[in-house]
Amino acid sequence: MATLADSPIAFETLAHPAPTPANERAARIAEPGFGTVFTDHMVSIDWDEVHGWHNAKVGPLEAIPLHPASSVLHYAQEIFEGLKAYRLDDGTMALFRPEENARRFNASAQRLAMPELPEDLFVEAVRRAVAADKDWFPPVDGGSLYIRPFMFATEHFLGVRPAKNYKFLVICSPAGNYFKSGAPAVSVWVSDYTRAAPGGTGAAKCGGNYAASLVPTKEAFALHHDQTVFLDAAEHKWIEELGGMNLFFVFDDGTMITPPLSGTILPGITRDSLITLAREEGLAVREERYSIDQWQADAASGHLVETFACGTAAVVTPVGTVAGREHNFTIGTGGPGQLTGRLKQRLVDIQRGKAADPHGWVMKL
Ligand code: PMP
Repeated sequence: MATLADSPIAFETLAHPAPTPANERAARIAEPGFGTVFTDHMVSIDWDEVHGWHNAKVGPLEAIPLHPASSVLHYAQEIFEGLKAYRLDDGTMALFRPEENARRFNASAQRLAMPELPEDLFVEAVRRAVAADKDWFPPVDGGSLYIRPFMFATEHFLGVRPAKNYKFLVICSPAGNYFKSGAPAVSVWVSDYTRAAPGGTGAAKCGGNYAASLVPTKEAFALHHDQTVFLDAAEHKWIEELGGMNLFFVFDDGTMITPPLSGTILPGITRDSLITLAREEGLAVREERYSIDQWQADAASGHLVETFACGTAAVVTPVGTVAGREHNFTIGTGGPGQLTGRLKQRLVDIQRGKAADPHGWVMKL
């Protein structure tokens, strides 16, 4: 692994000419929702074949001039990450497992033929972005600063090959509740479309995967569902994940199943953390294929007692109802399950510094 020490780079800090006035900032973060309010700063670092990573800056959030032939606009060489900063009760700021995001970012970079960023440089960029906008934490319950590191190809040329220039940016968005409805349990739609195929880019966090999920997501929203369930590409039988979250199935015999990291789903950091926490709660967790028909049968028989989705943005969210062209069923009472609530609380307590952190997941800033 390349580290920052191998190629030390200095960050330049640019003064902000017109930061948002405090009263306007307070109004914007009072009810931020998700993904629509942005802070004043961004971090940027450039890459080219001659200099490697260079030109690291913390400066004002601003538009990025792009040549119309920039290859990201044509061939979608773009990857991103999503993580949150929390403000703990003692006022310190903290990140949750940011080195895991750094690692996944580089796995995505490899798959998209992009340069890798030293993991400690990724974390340092995230730390600097949060520090620059430390006044933007929303004062609402469950509020956090959602951090979006991303990288894209800036070289301008037409032709299908990896680009020779890239830009890495980190922007921040104050976040409240992810689901507009704030619903205690979500309703999911089983899509006929496929998100990712074996050998494709499903395990990478690249914009293209999300582009492919938009028609199915639009369909789910039009039918008044909150999220889309994607099945595997080959047999259209095995449950993979939601459009932006991993899934867990909880049974009445103390077992729990989550789909395996087959290469077609995103290896969620929340997923990984919850497998650990659930095992500590005494559950037998199996990473194993689970079919849509079995899901319906187990929900009907009562063997399946809870299903929940998890991810950085929505944390842990119970799934209440499932609908599709050939499926329609309710899980348990259709409301939040007990284990789901307990696991969510344990995770949130660790993230917010309210519980012991035996795995060293919380990085204080
Ligand atoms: N699956 C997909 C497709 C996602 O976009 C996300 C969100 N990053 C997840 C799962 C959950 O990953 P994480 O727990 O790392 O946020």
